[in-house]
Amino acid sequence: MSNEKIPLGISTCLLGQSVRYNGGHKMDRFILHTLGDYFEYVPVCPEVECDMPIPRESMRLEGNPEEYRLITHKTKEDRTRQMQEWAHERLKELEDKDLCGYIFKSKSPSSGLFRVKIYAPEGHHVWNTGTGIWAGMFREHFPLLPLEENGRLHDPALRENFIERVFVFKRWRDFIAQKPGYGDLVEFHTRHKLLIMSHDIQLYRSMGKLVAEGRKQAFDDLLDEYLKMLLAAMIKPGTVKKHVNVLQHIMGYFKKELSSDEKQEFLEIMDQYRREHLPLIVPVTILNHFIRKYGNEYLEKQWYLHPHPTEMKLRTHV
Ligand code: SF4
Repeated sequence: MSNEKIPLGISTCLLGQSVRYNGGHKMDRFILHTLGDYFEYVPVCPEVECDMPIPRESMRLEGNPEEYRLITHKTKEDRTRQMQEWAHERLKELEDKDLCGYIFKSKSPSSGLFRVKIYAPEGHHVWNTGTGIWAGMFREHFPLLPLEENGRLHDPALRENFIERVFVFKRWRDFIAQKPGYGDLVEFHTRHKLLIMSHDIQLYRSMGKLVAEGRKQAFDDLLDEYLKMLLAAMIKPGTVKKHVNVLQHIMGYFKKELSSDEKQEFLEIMDQYRREHLPLIVPVTILNHFIRKYGNEYLEKQWYLHPHPTEMKLRTHV
């Protein structure tokens, strides 16, 4: 994979720019500094970019779960159309940015992705099922892109899942840029096998079948179907049970090479990992050591064993 930073859309206020309705920002240090070493952010503030001033009256979603609008809090002006008209153009511009994901600001009636509050115009009813107007349009326009909210990125498992998906998407973009053939898809899939297995064993099997029988369909259709399945698999959480399955599978390649001490040490570590006393990075590091020591071409190329840079300190939570 190329070493350039990965382009990622982001809500502008998360980068510390003072674009919020009250003239403030919501700088997220983890996003700005830690992830910023790997991602090149493409900031979007839908409210300011669609010509709303700073500061401005706050807004909220009003309506019901089936239909809601973007309404100013006190003066009750409907700003939905203003944002939608701007968004159509902005979405077209973003098509050229090769985004590999997007981080949205949670709770915002414009940028929030999940569980944004919808207020009944009359009465006090509130639903937690809305999506910000911009976030909803973005998701519809780029249905396959990995998307997440800033708050959820502080949950280690959700963070890891999102970052893994972004890296997979980047590898896919690089792969497509090389105008691949069928053999290249087989190679791409082979390198992702264990990573897919760690997320969804059923899809792992279906994808193996899809690739094996791939010559029966038009190559572009095959690529489309493959990508959909790949992303559907990757969004499933990687549980301890699934990782244990993959780790044991890898271990199986070294049955003959390992000394009894090495076997014993690995089994003890696996046991501690299974009990959630040790993070995933520990058995993975040991397996990488075995691979270096005894060699195995298939495993060396597996993205599962190094899905993202070690410096991101993922896989370190229990
Ligand atoms: S949440 Fe979205 S609309 Fe609100 S300030 Fe941040 S980027 Fe702008």
